[in-house]
Amino acid sequence: MINKLQNIPLISAVLLLLCLLLPCNKADTAEEQRNNLPEGNSTLHKQGDKQKETDMPERINKTDEEWCQLLTPEQYKVARGKGTEPPFANKYYNFKGNGVYQCVCCGNELFSSEAKFDSGTGWPSFWDTVSGQNVKTSADKSLGVIRTEVTCSRCDAHLGHVFEDGPPTTKLRYCINSASLKFVEK
Ligand code: FE
Repeated sequence: MINKLQNIPLISAVLLLLCLLLPCNKADTAEEQRNNLPEGNSTLHKQGDKQKETDMPERINKTDEEWCQLLTPEQYKVARGKGTEPPFANKYYNFKGNGVYQCVCCGNELFSSEAKFDSGTGWPSFWDTVSGQNVKTSADKSLGVIRTEVTCSRCDAHLGHVFEDGPPTTKLRYCINSASLKFVEK
């Protein structure tokens, strides 16, 4: 009898151990079940992920080294280094082709030739964007005055600045560097 009583702690310990192990076994089984799901279920899950991705704005992220290899020195200086090209000595200020001006870095469509006008500044000027979602604006205090910088919403390329002295339609003047643009005829 005394021997049996002495075994009680041992039996309790074994029972406790079994209780602890059982949920683990259950979890393992659930994990196995997830892994053994039919192909259809995992495809549905992937489709859900894809849907989420398309709802988000498509971003282009590259290192400075990668941009440097993709662009000419002038394009890199202006688009990635917030530079300004000289007026009247750039590719598109007096260009009159019909088409769309894309971001030179990522191909994002930025300005239509239909919104281009001669501002007399020596830089390509537009009174509107192709879509407000394709550009971003932010305050630029770099020259001691507050200007509104315009960047590509997809890759953050510096494009130029926007001023409120444009033609009547929008009264905006997007003053853009040719080096940040790539014209595509349409
Ligand atoms: Fe871009």
